Amino acid sequence: MNDNAIRRIVIVGGGTAGWMTAAPLAQRLANKPGGGCEVILVESAEIGTIGVGESTLPTIRFYNAALGLDQADFIRKTKATFKLGIEFKDWGHLGNRFFHGFGDFGPSAGAQPSHMYWLRLAKQFNTMPALENWSVSSMMARDMKFTPPSSQTPAVTDAYSYGFQFDAGLYANYLRDYAVARGAQRIEGMIVEAEQHPETGFVTAVRLRDGRRIEGDLFIDCSGFRGLLIEGLLKAGYDDWSDQLPCNSAWTVPCASSPGMTPYTRATAREAGWVWRIPLQHRTGNGHVYSDAFTTDEGARQVLEDGLDGAALDEPRQLRFVTGRRRKSWIKNCVAIGLSAGFIEPLESTSIHLIETAVGKLIELFPDRDCSASLADEFNRTMGIRYESVRDFIILHYKLTKRDDSEFWRYCAGMPVPDSLRHQIELFRETGRVAIIDPNGFAEPSFVAMLMGLGVVPKRYDPFVDQMDIRAVHGHFAGLRDLVRQVVGRMPEHGAYIAGFTTPSSS
Ligand SMILES: Cc1cc2nc3c(=O)[nH]c(=O)nc-3n(C[C@H](O)[C@H](O)[C@H](O)COP(=O)(O)OP(=O)(O)OC[C@H]3O[C@@H](n4cnc5c(N)ncnc54)[C@H](O)[C@@H]3O)c2cc1C
Repeated sequence: MNDNAIRRIVIVGGGTAGWMTAAPLAQRLANKPGGGCEVILVESAEIGTIGVGESTLPTIRFYNAALGLDQADFIRKTKATFKLGIEFKDWGHLGNRFFHGFGDFGPSAGAQPSHMYWLRLAKQFNTMPALENWSVSSMMARDMKFTPPSSQTPAVTDAYSYGFQFDAGLYANYLRDYAVARGAQRIEGMIVEAEQHPETGFVTAVRLRDGRRIEGDLFIDCSGFRGLLIEGLLKAGYDDWSDQLPCNSAWTVPCASSPGMTPYTRATAREAGWVWRIPLQHRTGNGHVYSDAFTTDEGARQVLEDGLDGAALDEPRQLRFVTGRRRKSWIKNCVAIGLSAGFIEPLESTSIHLIETAVGKLIELFPDRDCSASLADEFNRTMGIRYESVRDFIILHYKLTKRDDSEFWRYCAGMPVPDSLRHQIELFRETGRVAIIDPNGFAEPSFVAMLMGLGVVPKRYDPFVDQMDIRAVHGHFAGLRDLVRQVVGRMPEHGAYIAGFTTPSSS
């Protein structure tokens, strides 16, 4: 083994980020015949975790698969349901409703993207149904159906993807058990101090309130919003994006499940923010994300409580946040992952995805004890692109509103947006094309779903589309729509599909 290899990793914090980091590191490094590396996680029950974070993107499946998790076991233990996308209500205007589904709008009629052919038909026939009718995930969600993708009817059953909705606390416990079983050590205690090498500035140890001192070669800061090491010790600095994403508070409360378990998350725009609804097996998660500059805390709480579709199971809990990102999330031998690295409001369920991305990048760029500054630069560069592309995508949800019924929405419609986003919107409005600024971020169909859902109808479509006979284009859309209807019609109900995992005979 390289003499300079990392021998001990100390993870500060045992929320979703801490355990999502510990699990793959333990899997790869702890208790290995070549000497391995200790993985130690310190958490404090006294401080606790943020305890929200229930809706995910399809990439969570790749993270789980890399750990070798058994999907049925994971679904049972985390009370998970399937997620085909997000239903948006009242965003473009009051009464506006559309679905951002995971996957494409069916296979395309030709070499250009599907929506370009649809635009040609829509310009010719003003009775053309919404593009959403060709999104398999949207149609499954509408009919409350679920079955995993397969290659059975390739034009339909391959054309969608899915993520999960789960209990964040149960997921962290699940990963904790996984990590500990593979050699990670868990230490309960409150960190009161961190030490730095006097010359290099590297973090050398953290000290607990009971006097214990934990040394390490590499420190992962998963301490949540406080950023104990990355900000408290290393003063990374924070880019505050609140002027373009003004929500800064949330009320959350679980309620009893209502009949019919939706295979999707719902986001309903309200006067000064939006309300989420996330169905799990045992309860429904609810929250109201809002800006306290445009409503009162009490008013925001009332909006949440009035909109519940089941009896509240707890007292509402309030959270505050500042949208933005640490200027650097890897400094010297300290890497921040999770809320300590930044936070973008949960409208598209991107926080857990950003944790997956950061953990994957850390493994890809895993350092030795010198922690070369160039590795840190590369980590910070790629994570910067990802955070900013997520930021732009979320701002788009607000900026394109035509709502003018409250001061909040008037502010959102009028606010300046980043140049990258302005370019994205103008390019689509003029030509129907999507500028892919982050190839690993939200893909073209996501932008198309959001832009068209919010009412942007491109003036033109790709001229290559005109090279195809219009009857062939029409035939493609008519045939595909029938096929989608038939295939979705045969799929099981989402609730029944979940019951297949949870009833005793299924294990
Ligand atoms: C309102 C809201 C809704 C959200 N919804 C979603 C969603 O639907 N989907 C999604 O992907 N994400 C969502 N998120 C984000 C998600 O909750 C977080 O990304 C995720 O929980 C990770 O949090 P964390 O582990 O970084 O921090 P935390 O959960 O805050 O954990 C911090 C850990 O650090 C420990 N700690 C801190 N200080 C010390 C100390 N001094 N000594 C010892 N230990 C210490 C704590 O004990 C804890 O274990 C949401 C966030 C908010 C605010």
